[in-house]
Amino acid sequence: MAQIKRLSQSLTTNTTVFSALAIFGIGAYCTRSYFLQSAHAESNECPVMFSGLGFTTLRVQSVKAVNHNTKRLVFEFPDQNARSGLSLTSALLTFSRPKGRWLPVIRPYTPISDLNHQGTLELMVKQYPNGKSSTHIHSLVPGDTLTFLTSLKGFSWKPNLHPQVYMIAGGAGITPIYQLIRGILDNPADKTKINLVFGVNTEQDLLLRDELEEYKKRFPGRFDYVYTVSRLEEEKGGLKKGYVTEELLKGVLNGEKDTKVFVCGPPAMEASLTGSKGILARLGYNKGQVYKF
Ligand SMILES: Cc1cc2nc3c(=O)[nH]c(=O)nc-3n(C[C@H](O)[C@H](O)[C@H](O)COP(=O)(O)OP(=O)(O)OC[C@H]3O[C@@H](n4cnc5c(N)ncnc54)[C@H](O)[C@@H]3O)c2cc1C
Repeated sequence: MAQIKRLSQSLTTNTTVFSALAIFGIGAYCTRSYFLQSAHAESNECPVMFSGLGFTTLRVQSVKAVNHNTKRLVFEFPDQNARSGLSLTSALLTFSRPKGRWLPVIRPYTPISDLNHQGTLELMVKQYPNGKSSTHIHSLVPGDTLTFLTSLKGFSWKPNLHPQVYMIAGGAGITPIYQLIRGILDNPADKTKINLVFGVNTEQDLLLRDELEEYKKRFPGRFDYVYTVSRLEEEKGGLKKGYVTEELLKGVLNGEKDTKVFVCGPPAMEASLTGSKGILARLGYNKGQVYKF
């Protein structure tokens, strides 16, 4: 995923690459739209929205503020029978031209809705101070549009790949983690146990809290979580105080060999957890056992 981050950063400044992408994208879009329509006309299968490279522009159906800096946005597919066509842990590259900027901005966002849901797709976006793309997306209101360039495949998950997996999320890094959690738990053929550690700054930053609680109720013994809040007066009602530390992880991770640890969070958190000298390495997890979104 470091490659994806580098890709999105370099694309914001490289006009040559942008022009090439734009020309290729428009061609790909026309081709993709044609095939999408004719494939749909000839079969009864649901069309898919994101099947390759090409611009896809979707209308905003609704916007909901979750807290002071995060919004959930539902986007409408032109065909109400269409599905996203995304595989589990995918993100979508958005392509926007924020107000007052000549150069476009390309950033990935991870859908939080069921990827097989027909007719709509939902994103949850945190706004960063002076954030080019996140500020643009936060300015959108119902009826506005957002353009998507292509999908990015994340980790290639297979049901029952491991008996138990761990997930560590920080802040808005919960989105790919949540997509994977729901993909595993909503699949009756997948029996994987999941333990989540979710670290945030304040209690209001515990995004998707209701959804996660619902999964915990529906899957007792299979899904559990620990919430840790750095700016908390005192520990209370299932909330721990502080950062995601080695001490905290020692109490959650059991050191199994047949497991995977998925990590997604702000750069400082990922740096403290991963890498050859990171907390996970010190707890005995090798490079192949850790996946960073
Ligand atoms: C695979 C992938 C999936 C993602 N999915 C989501 C998602 O579902 N929802 C979501 O809100 N974001 C998601 N992101 C992050 C998103 O792509 C952007 O990086 C983010 O919205 C900031 O972009 P920007 O243009 O607004 O900020 P920029 O203009 O690039 O940066 C503005 C300021 O914000 C700071 N900043 C930027 N990103 C971060 C960060 N992650 N942590 C801390 N500080 C930061 C920068 O250091 C800078 O100071 C994802 C990232 C990846 C790689």
